[in-house]
Amino acid sequence: MSEPLFEKIALIGIGLVGGSIALAARRGGLARKIVAATRSAETAATANRLKLTDHCGTDLAAACEGADLVIVCTPVGACGEVARVIGPKLKAGCIVSDVGSVKQAVVAAMQPHLPPGVHFVPAHPVAGTENSGPEAGFAELFDGRWTILTPLPDSDPAAVAKLETFWKGLGSLVDKLDPAHHDRILAITSHLPHLIAYTIVGTADDLGGHLNAEVLRFAAGGFRDFTRIAASDPTMWRDVFMNNREAVLEVLQRFQEDLFYLQRAIRWGEGDKLFELFTRTREIRRALIHLNQA
Ligand code: NAP
Repeated sequence: MSEPLFEKIALIGIGLVGGSIALAARRGGLARKIVAATRSAETAATANRLKLTDHCGTDLAAACEGADLVIVCTPVGACGEVARVIGPKLKAGCIVSDVGSVKQAVVAAMQPHLPPGVHFVPAHPVAGTENSGPEAGFAELFDGRWTILTPLPDSDPAAVAKLETFWKGLGSLVDKLDPAHHDRILAITSHLPHLIAYTIVGTADDLGGHLNAEVLRFAAGGFRDFTRIAASDPTMWRDVFMNNREAVLEVLQRFQEDLFYLQRAIRWGEGDKLFELFTRTREIRRALIHLNQA
């Protein structure tokens, strides 16, 4: 059998993403030892019961001792504090990464706490579900989905290449983007759609009396799909919006203009404008299916 890519991997945070990395890394034989640490004893106990890693505890720094790959899998807002706690225990040559849905804010929060000699290569697997916690993890989460690495100008090329090999071993397709570009793209493809889903479901819930009951009873495809997205983890998504403010506000501004355009077309009976847009968007869906990302 060939040598695993890493001797010891430490995952900080063991929810949907951390748990899935653990299972996929084991499936791919990518590490000799995989450990995890999380904030609560309860989550650690669940991770141990599910045997997601060789061991899961609550001492974040201890878990990182001797690791040659550390991946921070907590909500974005916790990444800076995690880096501060684990920083002193990271061994020289260790690769440190994360899975946060926002990149610039995570880089700014983590980098000051990482000692020299450690290779920081931020990453974001663009794969997920609306479920969270260790029980939500599954080995196939990343299969055929994209992971975006956002190396920094001084990231060590060998460390970037090794992390790329790791993510490919987890089943992912890998690309690289600059962190600012990543945040702008994800604002429109992921963050805004979640904001819209949260808004629609909240608005429907605010409709009073029996109208509300009927909204839920007759929830058709469209609304049901939004409720699935709006069931996503509140902590994770609060942190995404608090940490990608500028890019989200920019696309939200554009979105509001386009919404007013449609509102006006409906008011003035300009069906051709609606038809033209709906035809264009249907093509986009078909292109996505063609790319295998739908
Ligand atoms: P999750 O299922 O809620 O798991 C989060 C994990 O982080 C839990 O183990 C939690 O521990 C731990 N944690 C939270 N705050 C912590 C802190 N202050 N210190 C130490 N550990 C802490 O979340 P997830 O869905 O895996 O998301 C994790 C990250 O992946 C987020 O940054 C998110 O942006 C990114 N991401 C998510 C998705 C998605 O679809 N969900 C997709 C791609 C990327 P306790 O339970 O012990 O509190």
